[in-house]
Amino acid sequence: MHKNSIVGFPRIGEKRELKFALEKFWAKGCEFDEVEKTANELKIRHWEYQKNAGIELISSNDFSYYDGMLDTIMMLGCVPQRFATIQNKTEQYFAMARGYKDGVAMAMTKWFNTNYHYIVPELHKNQSFRLDGTKIISEYKQAKEIGLKTKINLIGAVTFLGLSTTTDGSEKFLHFAKVVDIYSELLSEISSLDDEVIVQFDEPYFAKEPTNGELGLLKNCYDKLANISPNIKIIVTTYFEHSTEATKILVNTPIWAIGLDFIAGEKNLQSLDLLAKSDKVLFAGVVNGRNIWKNDLRKSLKLLQTIAQKVDKKRVIVSSSCSLLHSPFTLKYEEKLDNELKNWLSFAVEKLDEVVILSKLFFEDELNIKEEEFVANNQQAIESKKSSSKIHNLDVKTRIQNISYWERQLEVNKRLKIQKDVLKYPDLATTTIGSFPQTSELRNIRKEYKQGTLSLEVYEAYIKSYIDDCIKKQESIGLDVLVHGEPERNDMVEYFGEQMNGFAFSSNGWVQSYGARCVKPPILYGDVSLDKPMTTKWITYAQSITDKIVKGMLTGPVTIINWSFVRDDLPKSQIAYQIALCLNDEIDDLQKNGIKIIQVDEAAFKEGYPLRAENISDYEEWAVKSFKLCVGSAYPQTQIHTHMCYSEFNDIIHTIEAMDADVITIETAKSGNRLLQIFKSSGYSKEIGPGVYDIHSPRIPSVEEIETQIKLLLEVLPKEQLWINPDCGLKTRKWEEVTPALANMVEAVKKFR
Ligand code: GLN
Ligand code: ZN
Repeated sequence: MHKNSIVGFPRIGEKRELKFALEKFWAKGCEFDEVEKTANELKIRHWEYQKNAGIELISSNDFSYYDGMLDTIMMLGCVPQRFATIQNKTEQYFAMARGYKDGVAMAMTKWFNTNYHYIVPELHKNQSFRLDGTKIISEYKQAKEIGLKTKINLIGAVTFLGLSTTTDGSEKFLHFAKVVDIYSELLSEISSLDDEVIVQFDEPYFAKEPTNGELGLLKNCYDKLANISPNIKIIVTTYFEHSTEATKILVNTPIWAIGLDFIAGEKNLQSLDLLAKSDKVLFAGVVNGRNIWKNDLRKSLKLLQTIAQKVDKKRVIVSSSCSLLHSPFTLKYEEKLDNELKNWLSFAVEKLDEVVILSKLFFEDELNIKEEEFVANNQQAIESKKSSSKIHNLDVKTRIQNISYWERQLEVNKRLKIQKDVLKYPDLATTTIGSFPQTSELRNIRKEYKQGTLSLEVYEAYIKSYIDDCIKKQESIGLDVLVHGEPERNDMVEYFGEQMNGFAFSSNGWVQSYGARCVKPPILYGDVSLDKPMTTKWITYAQSITDKIVKGMLTGPVTIINWSFVRDDLPKSQIAYQIALCLNDEIDDLQKNGIKIIQVDEAAFKEGYPLRAENISDYEEWAVKSFKLCVGSAYPQTQIHTHMCYSEFNDIIHTIEAMDADVITIETAKSGNRLLQIFKSSGYSKEIGPGVYDIHSPRIPSVEEIETQIKLLLEVLPKEQLWINPDCGLKTRKWEEVTPALANMVEAVKKFR
């Protein structure tokens, strides 16, 4: 039997080769053959990486040109009607992802609690399905050509349907039986590929609380699929949380193996007795597939031994906790990273070695000298992390212990009264969310300055002139509360990470976000502290050139954490409080320098929510506490805004209220006043700026449209409680769109004053 495996491997390429090939093809710079060629090279290279590392059971079909859910849509033949007439399969595939003539692209959303986005399947009552197993079969054969007998990765039927949406309000599991039939047909095809084939079905849907109905479907599905052919061995895998309910079901189906995440789903340990009694093989996910830190081999070995106390070792396969898709590719190109820090890290390629060595340790296979060295180095790295002065800063720890106030002293209604007196803004005050258009010229200037090819003087003069221009434009449009436009910021998290101690930045640590898009999250490795103000210079400059109020702009602790790779040796709550204290100082510095309104963005507040209800209260506690700590230094008359890129507040309204921001701006433009209702029904007493137009589209909203929006808002809340602003930041838009859109917004407001 195999001793080790991984759930799946990244596919974008260590130098993002797939991204660049796709982009060239989309820009009509090459034929699809060229993309295919790159893809084939990558697949082979990635298999070789795994094989050479000693991974015994390697996946095929973990590759994708765009997204695995989209591949599954193609496999099941459930292409939405608006793309159905496109004859060319490749064209059809990318049309679904990116839009085509009048056919708007299919929606994307986050894959569970990761930053990866999948294409949401769109189904309807009369949906038809038809098997197309080409990609799956051909990838298996490709691997076979280089001597690999792979496991075939598929997204499970329940997860596929569970994550889908229907366009006509019909039940999303309506076509369950039909979909399972297609999977059965596929398995029949697969069964003729080899004397024995292993198929991995990913069912992460069960990492969230499943309903009894969904558990019933799971049983039904795998009872059926496991009986299609005696030469097919089925693994059902979950990840990102425990799936104890699903395991109870799966042990009573005729599948071969169950894959569990023991990192994010510690509670999976509770399933061990059950697994022991069953005949199932256990793929034990013990190497974290979605972080960047070296695995503590000693600790993982202990975990494996704990597992083996219950489940017979002969039935355990050492694995990653989830697909390595969510971790950057390799440390190979990180020449600029500090050596000590680099020695603590492990990206996807390095994780392969960890899985292999761990399986050797677990199965007591003899290690060669190099492997002995690997283990020694691992322990040394883990030890040095515990005491390194790069990570640990006593001042930070002492400061956290001695926090004298965790929140603002005066309650919100009294604060708002003072603020209205001092700031004298009108009802339905107009403002924006922070950023203004970032032209390619601006991006180049920042890049050149960063690379050292542009002097500080020239760079600063450019930023100044951008701010001058931005303020002038806002004044002439007639907005009430202005912003400086964020021209100095490349990214709302990176900008702050670069200025605080405790963060590092890789050169090549890209992780696929969707399609060809990758992100390079900052690495938060140590105690966070601040040596000098981060934003005061540019905000006060902007304030100095206008009589209107300029709103300061910060990114909040929860968002910084959610969009970074964070250290694994400290609870997130503690990391959040450290960041909050830095921002607390920043706010104080801003207000002491004459800034009267400060916005603390928490764009990622909602997406940070845990998958399991049992963990929500803990998250909410530290998330709210860190936000309040962060703004705790604000004077009563300093107005604190927050912004969230999310609009469904129904289930979290009390948490939003508890954050205690004076004003919240939210993304509601597409939903009229429906999403605002909850603020009214819950008795929310603070001020709210519901976005009145959608910034994600280049369309310029007319005065009448915005008037209609405002009318709708006024049906729900009084004008004293409302601000008027766009949906989100404007940095992806063009000035030609932004200027008239905002002018129309101001015009519309005038009609209500
Ligand atoms: N202040 C940021 C901006 O305007 C907020 C962006 C966001 O919420 N994603 O760009
Ligand atoms: Zn936003």
